[in-house]
Amino acid sequence: MPSIFSKIISGEIPAEIVHQDELVTAFRDAHPAAPTHILIVPNQEITGVDALEDSQAEVAGRMLLVARDLARREGVARSGYRLIINCGPDGGQEVMHLHMHLIGGRPLGPMLA
Ligand code: 5GP
Repeated sequence: MPSIFSKIISGEIPAEIVHQDELVTAFRDAHPAAPTHILIVPNQEITGVDALEDSQAEVAGRMLLVARDLARREGVARSGYRLIINCGPDGGQEVMHLHMHLIGGRPLGPMLA
C-alpha cells in the first residue's frame, strides 16, 4: 500500500506542491501549525529516519537544502523557523513516510512541550 504521501507525490491525492525534483517533493501541510508549514518528503518511500540507508545520504541532504531554499522563498529565513522530523511513535510520527516539517511565520517559542 502506498503511503498517503506517495499518493500526493504521484498526484493521486491533491496537495499544494511547492517544490518537486528527482529526489524530493515538498507540499503544504493540510493542518498548518503556523503561516508557513511545509512537508519535505523523499519521492522514494522510506518509512522514517531509522530506515534511512547510508546510500541514501543524497536524498537526506537534499531534504535539508530544499528546506533552506523554501524558507528563503517563504520569507522566513531571516526571522527564523523550525525544522522537525518526528521519528517513530514516541517521536509523534503519524505518517510512516519520512518527512521534514518546515514551520515558520510566527514566533514558535520553546521547542519542547
Ligand atoms: P507527523 O506527525 O507524521 O510528523 O506529521 C504528519 C503531518 O502530515 C501532519 O502535520 C498532518 O497534518 C500532515 N498530513 C497528513 N495527511 C495529509 C494529507 O493528506 N495532506 C497533507 N497536505 N498533509 C497531511
